[in-house]
Amino acid sequence: MAAVTPGLVCAHHHLYSALARGMPAPPRAPTSFQEILEQVWWRLDTALDLEMIRWSAMLGALEALESGTTAIVDHHESPNAIEGSLDVIAEACAEVGVRSLLAYGITDRHGPDGARRGLAENERFIRAGGRGLVGVHAAFTCSDGSLHAAAALAEDLGVGVHVHVCEGIEDIDAPRRLAGLTRDDWLLAHCVHLPTDHALQGTIAHNPMSNLNNAVGYADPARFSNPVALGTDGIGGNVLESFRLAYVMERSADVTCGPDTAWTWLETGWGLVPEARADEVTWSYDPMDPWHVAFTPGIIPRRITIDGEVVFADGRPTRVDADEIRARAREQAVRLHARL
Ligand SMILES: [Zn+2]
Repeated sequence: MAAVTPGLVCAHHHLYSALARGMPAPPRAPTSFQEILEQVWWRLDTALDLEMIRWSAMLGALEALESGTTAIVDHHESPNAIEGSLDVIAEACAEVGVRSLLAYGITDRHGPDGARRGLAENERFIRAGGRGLVGVHAAFTCSDGSLHAAAALAEDLGVGVHVHVCEGIEDIDAPRRLAGLTRDDWLLAHCVHLPTDHALQGTIAHNPMSNLNNAVGYADPARFSNPVALGTDGIGGNVLESFRLAYVMERSADVTCGPDTAWTWLETGWGLVPEARADEVTWSYDPMDPWHVAFTPGIIPRRITIDGEVVFADGRPTRVDADEIRARAREQAVRLHARL
C-alpha cells in the first residue's frame, strides 16, 4: 500500500545548522534564548566558510529529500563568508534535486558594513535569477535603517522578506519596529511572542521542535489570522515530523482540536513554493490523511519526482551519493568544530 502527495515544503530552514550536530558544548550552559544565540548559533555562523556551507547544504538537502520534502525555504547567515554564499546553497540544493527559496539574513551585529554586504548578497543573487526572499535576521539585531533598506529592496525586487519575529522575548519590540513595512509576501518565522492582534502581514512559519528546544514558549499559531506554514528551523527537513509535533502541541493547549488545522499549515507551504505541488512523493503509508499521519511516526518516501524527474527511489537519492555526502559533511563538521 502506498499513497501519493505533492512534495512537502519546509517553510523555515537553516541548512548551515546541519553541521552543528556534535559541536563542542559552549563554555557555560546557556540560560536564555539570547544566550543560546550568543553561545551556540552566533559562534557557529561566524566560523562558516563556503566549503562548510556547501556540504551543510548538501547534507540538509539530502535529509530533506529523504523526508519527502522537495522544497526548502532557507534563511542563511555566515558573516565571514557572505558573498556568493547563496549561490553555493542554491547549487547544492539543485545538485541533490531539491527546490530552494533562499535568503541571506542581514544583521547589524557585525556593524553596518555587515548588513550592507548581506543586503548586497540578497540583491546580487535574486537579480541574477536566483529564487529568493530578502533575508533579515530579526528586528532586535537590526537598525531601523537596515529594516527599511531590506523592505525597500524586497519591494524593488518584487519578493518578500524572510525574517525572525518575536521568537524570544528579546524581540518583543518587533511588531512596532516592523509596523508599516510588512506585506503579504513576507515570511515571519516563529512569532511566539507576537500579540494576537498584531498588524503584521505575511505568512507565519511555525517551528514547534525548535521552539520546544529553545524553551521560548508556545506560539499557538491557531490564534493568528495570517496564513501559517510549518518549518524546522534547521532541525532537519522533516515536515511530517513538524506536522505531528504542531498537532500535539496544539492539542496540549486545547484537547478539543484535531490534526486538521496543523495539516492546513503543512499545506500552506505550497503557497510559498507553488511548483512543489506538482512534485510527487509516494509514501510508505496509506492513507496520508491528517488523522493517520498524526499517529504514525516513521513514514518515509518510497519514490519522489521533482519537475518530472525521479530524484529518489529504493530508499536512495538518484542524482547524488548519500554516503559520500555524509562523509564529506562529516569532514567539514570536524573543521568547523575545530574552529569553535
Ligand atoms: Zn530560524
